Amino acid sequence: MTGLAGKVALVTGSGRGIGRAVALRLAQDGAALAISDVDAAGGQAVVQELQGQGRQAQFYPADVAAADQVNQLVDRIMADLGGLHVLVNNAGITRDALLLRMSDEDWDRVLTVNLKGAFLCTRAALRPMLRQRWGRIINIASVVGLVGNAGQANYAASKAGLVGLSKATAKEAASRGVTVNAIAPGFIDTAMTKGLKEELKQEILKQIPLGRLGQPEDIAAAVAFLASEEARYITGHVLCVDGGLTMV
Ligand code: NAP
Repeated sequence: MTGLAGKVALVTGSGRGIGRAVALRLAQDGAALAISDVDAAGGQAVVQELQGQGRQAQFYPADVAAADQVNQLVDRIMADLGGLHVLVNNAGITRDALLLRMSDEDWDRVLTVNLKGAFLCTRAALRPMLRQRWGRIINIASVVGLVGNAGQANYAASKAGLVGLSKATAKEAASRGVTVNAIAPGFIDTAMTKGLKEELKQEILKQIPLGRLGQPEDIAAAVAFLASEEARYITGHVLCVDGGLTMV
């Protein structure tokens, strides 16, 4: 596919996991890739992988929670790659604890990275998108933001917040050809879920009608669709990619 030829895509947290798979897929669809992560080694490795496939890609280290770094990130992408058309707000973290034991720090850090980070990246990327009358913003939320999960009050709140952020931004940007959608992954096989106890994993598997954990490529395929021209009449939507786990 070359549907994104001539377009520039920024994927935050793309040094590994879902972000990496999304970056590889958007590059396969023809986009030039801005790989960004706090993990320089991971980010550089993804850039090398992409360049090895003959794709255009550059690494930009940035913490999405730091406004100055995010603003510089977008300025540099615009200068180096000549535009910014697709933003995938993927960087995210967990700091799990039952609410009564959750520290202020764990609450603040998760909300700051997962929700404020997406706000900062959206604010920086939206101006060039509005100017060029074309843009795609895709926020990686979670089914946990829709149905909740014990031990993840901070994470669930951040992901529910992303849904509201997506819908409000979708309404603000629609008249200029910029769509904003969220994807709510279920349980995806990445470093984030590797730590789950085998017993819990088996319990979760029983609740997934399609009978397996998701792969990062399953999320990447949904991102590729929402980023494409074919998805031009979809905005403010939350797409669950969860093997049927929630069916909300
Ligand atoms: P992952 O394997 O932990 O990868 C996340 C990447 O984001 C890491 O490279 C991480 O770097 C980076 N990152 C963390 N904090 C950052 C920051 N402040 N600024 C920039 N980059 C940062 O996670 P994943 O499983 O691929 O998840 C990706 C997204 O999908 C997250 O938003 C997650 O909440 C969401 N999601 C995942 C699942 C799942 O089952 N895996 C389900 C639903 C939603 P470091 O490792 O150096 O911190």
